[in-house]
Amino acid sequence: MAYRPFYEEFPTVAEQETRAITIAPGERSRLPVGEYGFVEMFCDEPGCDCRRVFFSVLSSTRHQIEAVVAWGWEKPEFYATWMNTRNPRVVAELKGPVLNVGSPATALAPALLELTRTVLLRDPHYVERIKRHYQMFRQRIEGGRPVTGPPRTERPAKKLDLPSARTAPVDVAYRPARRLPKTKPHVRPARRDDCPRARTGIPPKPSLPFAAETPPGAAFSHYEITTEPMPEPHYQRLPQRVKEEIERLHDIVQRRPREAIPALQDLITRYPRVPQLYNYLSVAHARAGQRREAEAVVEENYRRNPEYVFARVNYAEVCLARGDYAQVAEIFAHTFDLSLLYPQRKRFHLSEVANFMGLAGLYFLATGNRELAEHYDTFLQQIAPEFPMTRRLHKTLFPVIIYLTHLCFRESKEVSYLSTHCV
Ligand SMILES: [Zn+2]
Repeated sequence: MAYRPFYEEFPTVAEQETRAITIAPGERSRLPVGEYGFVEMFCDEPGCDCRRVFFSVLSSTRHQIEAVVAWGWEKPEFYATWMNTRNPRVVAELKGPVLNVGSPATALAPALLELTRTVLLRDPHYVERIKRHYQMFRQRIEGGRPVTGPPRTERPAKKLDLPSARTAPVDVAYRPARRLPKTKPHVRPARRDDCPRARTGIPPKPSLPFAAETPPGAAFSHYEITTEPMPEPHYQRLPQRVKEEIERLHDIVQRRPREAIPALQDLITRYPRVPQLYNYLSVAHARAGQRREAEAVVEENYRRNPEYVFARVNYAEVCLARGDYAQVAEIFAHTFDLSLLYPQRKRFHLSEVANFMGLAGLYFLATGNRELAEHYDTFLQQIAPEFPMTRRLHKTLFPVIIYLTHLCFRESKEVSYLSTHCV
């Protein structure tokens, strides 16, 4: 069984209903003053109905997971039947609350277990909430089917599966909160040609505290973003058979990259102005484990085809990874503004804008301008939330602990005080 955070499936509900308990000064507690957030995790194994929750307990002052507490709300008989065991130790372990074996546990863990037992789980409203969250989560896992009722008595005995192995997914990676249905296209549907094209309606954020750099959005009044295909002109002019050859190589790059390399090199000699060829070749090198060669190709593409937005972005990415921030700024002409880099263009494809701005955001984060990086992030969340670059910037800006801190302790969120909960 694997346990996943509730917020991954229901971020909005999690934001409103993740409980935190405040230990105020003067409170009689073994815990340091601060807030303790209880991030819920539930089982995501299809067909399972184990009726347990795992709390990753986060401290507001130390910004870390202090303990992982497991708890099952049903009677012991349920877990005995479910696990097909009479071993009281096993049943007690399943019912809890217990500190989960193998999960993070600091010196505060025993006191947090105590807090869970004596305060959190004595709140009947909260216990009902946990059951409701479990139902929601399980229904999502089962694809909308209601969770089965009584435990399955015929279920074969499970291995002693005290869930220790994979119970701390919150430590792994934060998945962006906004998950769209799989059927949703990655970009907004392309407008038909006869439709008037609105400019992006995102106003520039006023009064940004920087002078030298252009904020994203400020430049948007100068160009239009489209999701219609925008064929690259050099590629367009190629003879049909060459295009077909390139498409064939694109497939080979994925499966047998070494085989594609000489053919792509040959094509580049013949058609040095077709930027896609460099992309494919650099991917082939990278996939073949030839990182240096891949980077050289990326740089070559930038030198030869700087008008190609992705050549710029890819080379900037290489420089960013090297820590060569001066070169990144150079590539973006110190403006980070597409309309200044390409004054002759009035339209950009959404993927160009998203990759360009995402890279710019990463650059600003790396160079200490977090506020501006967040501004790019906010902007990208609006125009291209599902783009890989958007996700990458967002994840880099908000690693899991920062997200959990937001989830548990942001202002105006529901907070319980220890004293108000003592029963
Ligand atoms: Zn389960």
